[in-house]
Amino acid sequence: EQLRKSYYLGKQELPVLKGIDLDINKNEFVALMGPSGSGKSTLMNILGCLDTLTDGKYVLNGNDVSKMNDNELAEIRNQEIGFVFQQFNLLPRLSALENVALPLIYAGVSKKERTERALEMLEKVSLADRSHHKPNELSGGQIQRVAIARALVNRPSIILADEPTGNLDSKTSVEIMGLITDIHKLGNTVVLVTHEEDIARYAKRVVRLRDGLIETDQTREELALHA
Ligand code: ATP
Ligand code: MG
Repeated sequence: EQLRKSYYLGKQELPVLKGIDLDINKNEFVALMGPSGSGKSTLMNILGCLDTLTDGKYVLNGNDVSKMNDNELAEIRNQEIGFVFQQFNLLPRLSALENVALPLIYAGVSKKERTERALEMLEKVSLADRSHHKPNELSGGQIQRVAIARALVNRPSIILADEPTGNLDSKTSVEIMGLITDIHKLGNTVVLVTHEEDIARYAKRVVRLRDGLIETDQTREELALHA
């Protein structure tokens, strides 16, 4: 509700989100689009409780996130949210399996169960046979699948994906989007940032930002009418 976010460079205020009103329901699949610099990643960081808002209100599962302290925010991040962000790269020294198991360490899961659950997730993204490979021994699409496995290992209800297909060829992009669509069908809420209309088509609703404000917010049906 009337969400605002400014960055501060010294004393200079840079307003980036300028009053966003947005309702996302459980099990929705929303694509967030808009020009470079319009505030998409900034909004995703706030939705994912990685960053705090400057003004306005953010309610998640009935709880007012805008009033929470750092510990409470970290708990929400660990329990509710799976991130597939380009900048959240895999740790280069860890194997695929260890990367996927990482969030479970923070959740206090035993080593044995961590390995089991990580392997189960790698199987889901068809990479069980690459579990001991390090990131530099994997292809771009495989790395992104490992990142998706890691995002899901905690069984979060919300998946935030910021340009998950950004560096991938079109065939691999289709594969990754198939995976994200499956995750949505299992009952997860998905918010996906993309520049590509072809990728946005997987979502049921498209929200466009421009200059820190919502320009349009349309369902797939509404978009089809105008096409
Ligand atoms: P892109 O499509 O290029 O990824 P975006 O819509 O995700 O763009 P943001 O990353 O949200 O855009 O950035 C919005 C604006 O905020 C940009 O003008 C950017 O320069 C600025 N910005 C982002 N992060 C910071 C920061 N940590 N400190 C200062 N300014 C920032
Ligand atoms: Mg961005």
